[in-house]
Formats: sequence, structure tokens, C-alpha cells
Amino acid sequence: MAIRKAMVAGNWKMNGSLELVKQMSDAINNVKSKKIDVVLFPPFPLVSALIASGVSTGTQTISEYKPGAFTGEVDAQLVKDLGAEYVLVGHSERRSIYNESNSTVAEKFSRAQQVGLTPILCVGESESEQENGKTELVVAAQIDAVIEKIGVAALKDSVIAYEPVWAIGTGKTASPEQAQNVHKFIRDKIAALDSDLAQGLTILYGGSVNEKNSELLFAQADIDGGLIGGASLKADSFSAICESAKGTL
Ligand code: PEP
Repeated sequence: MAIRKAMVAGNWKMNGSLELVKQMSDAINNVKSKKIDVVLFPPFPLVSALIASGVSTGTQTISEYKPGAFTGEVDAQLVKDLGAEYVLVGHSERRSIYNESNSTVAEKFSRAQQVGLTPILCVGESESEQENGKTELVVAAQIDAVIEKIGVAALKDSVIAYEPVWAIGTGKTASPEQAQNVHKFIRDKIAALDSDLAQGLTILYGGSVNEKNSELLFAQADIDGGLIGGASLKADSFSAICESAKGTL
């Protein structure tokens, strides 16, 4: 029996509409299977509609703070009360455009778990960091920030998404071997602290995944599915990616 279940997650970023909710929920309800978890991350105003259509839903961020005077921010408890199950923390666009540091990301991770949301911790190196051989250093620091704040045990109820920044939205996917090497590095790093936890931890790959490259990526031993951006806006492509994840674990 497989220890981990495959997951395919779709990040709509600042895209989508009520019409897309309808199209994607029909598509997802058709590919649903006990073999995979399929989750969508729409913009906040579409969260309730997606939940009502029966799709497992998360948000693209939350506030690290408890309710209070934080104009424009969204409280994690409210997201949970609406019926969302997951939240992305540390997506590279949040890190680079909104200056979220490793420490802020760790606070968001902790806040998500306080209210019972499952955080998907996004990690990954930039193009120059990759060229300078710093991938493992960068990814380790991003994960260590969470471990130092709340301890390794907190990773049990979470998912990690390895997303090399140079592969996001660029059409330049990491090769299956390249991605597998980093996924193995992540799993081994966590296994050094807690081996059972590491074996059960879902680690997704993200970065220009599409219906043509998903099968080979998901076939790698330490890749448990994908976090999909652009291709999660197209029902046909996203359904095909979900199909390719069935039977990979
Ligand atoms: C993402 O936004 O997390 C992502 C992986 O985007 P894309 O699939 O478009 O590269």
C-alpha cells in the first residue's frame, strides 16, 4: 500500500471567474478518485462558489495575524469557517512581489495550523541561485525557518511544494531528474529529524507543469504530484494532469 496519496493543486493566481468555477468544478468532479487529492486555489472572492460546487479549496495566502486592524488582509479562521481546507504559504510571487521573508512565511504556516488549515509550504531557488549551485542552501533555509519556529512535528500536517522560481510561468520545466534530486534532498533532510514523518510527507513539484510533462515528473520516486499555475486555468489540461497523477504512487 502506498504511504502517500498523490495530489494535484491548481493555483489560479489573480485569474478566474464564476464561469471558470463552473467549468473547472465539472471537470474535477469527473476526474475525482480515491487515488488523488485535487485542490484549487482561486482568488478570495471565488472561494465560496468553488466550495459550494464540491471542489476541495484553499486560498493563495492568509494573514499571519489574528483578527484586528489589518486593512485588506484576510484572517485564516474566516477562511477555515468558509470551508476551505488548505492555504499556500510562501509562493514565490508572495516572496518576491510582496517581500514575504522566510520568517513571515513561517508565521503564516503556524497561523494556518492554529485554525486547522493545511499549509502548502512553497520553496524554491531563483535562476541565479540555481546557476551558482545554491539550490539546496536556499531550499534548506526556507524549510528550516518553519522548523525553527514550530518544530519538525508541524510538518506532519502540511505539504511541501518545490517550485524553482526559474520554472514558474516560463515554460522551462525542471527535468524529472533535476526535480527528483531536489525532492530527495528535501525528504532526506526531514528524514534526518523524523524518518516516519518524511516518508509520509507529500512533496509536490511546481513550475510549468502541463499535460505533456506531468506523467514523467509524477513518476519520480519523491514527486507526489504537482502545483499547477497556468494549466490549472484550462479544464482539459488540468483534467489530463490529474489523470496522469493517478497510479503514480
Ligand atoms: C505556480 O504558480 O505555482 C506555478 C507553478 O505556475 P506555472 O505552472 O504557470 O509555472
